[in-house]
Amino acid sequence: MDYPGNLFVVAAPSGAGKSSLVKALMELDARVQPSVSHTTRAPRGQEKHGREYFFVSQQEFDAMILGSAFVEWANVHGFRYGTSKKAIEERIAQGADVILEIDFQGALQIKKTFANAVLIFILPPSWDELRSRLERRGEDSPEAIELRLKNAELEVAQAHEFDFVIINELFERALFDLKAIVHAQRLKFSAQRRARADTFQTLHIA
Ligand code: 5GP
Repeated sequence: MDYPGNLFVVAAPSGAGKSSLVKALMELDARVQPSVSHTTRAPRGQEKHGREYFFVSQQEFDAMILGSAFVEWANVHGFRYGTSKKAIEERIAQGADVILEIDFQGALQIKKTFANAVLIFILPPSWDELRSRLERRGEDSPEAIELRLKNAELEVAQAHEFDFVIINELFERALFDLKAIVHAQRLKFSAQRRARADTFQTLHIA
């Protein structure tokens, strides 16, 4: 189905800078809105129910699976995460551009339901750089960093399934690339015909 809003799906190995890029994009562009996922993990730090995630129990998550509420869900680092189909559909039907920041398994699933979804993969410039970013972040033990790097290798091997690739070497450059992808979607024929219906009519373009 062709909705007036776009659906952008961003995936990346952990430490590649996905969250910072998506956050910066949303600060610059109010038309891009996040989708709040459901998760079985507990809130961390200042996280609030309904803002970063909907924090739900295993039973609630199971009930949502049974009720086909998720367009995709996945096990990531030992917890379950899912994207609500209804929340996305409602917003893109209203013309909002929704951005999902999810793991790569989920990203590939999204395309099965939303065929026009734009899949964007963020890569680090090198393995050494990814390792030092994870070390600098200081959130993980050395074992957890090794696990993340191992997972990252598997994830990067799926990058060819994505529509676009951004290499996050310089943050500003990567943000420029992300903005360019969003902008290009808005210039597609179908999007322009909808957004600039008057001009199309004046020019007698069907
Ligand atoms: P965190 O617990 O650190 O917030 O997120 C862990 C991982 O889960 C990240 O890679 C994040 O992108 C992914 N994630 C968050 N929400 C979803 C979701 O709805 N579906 C999937 N498949 N992954 C998600």
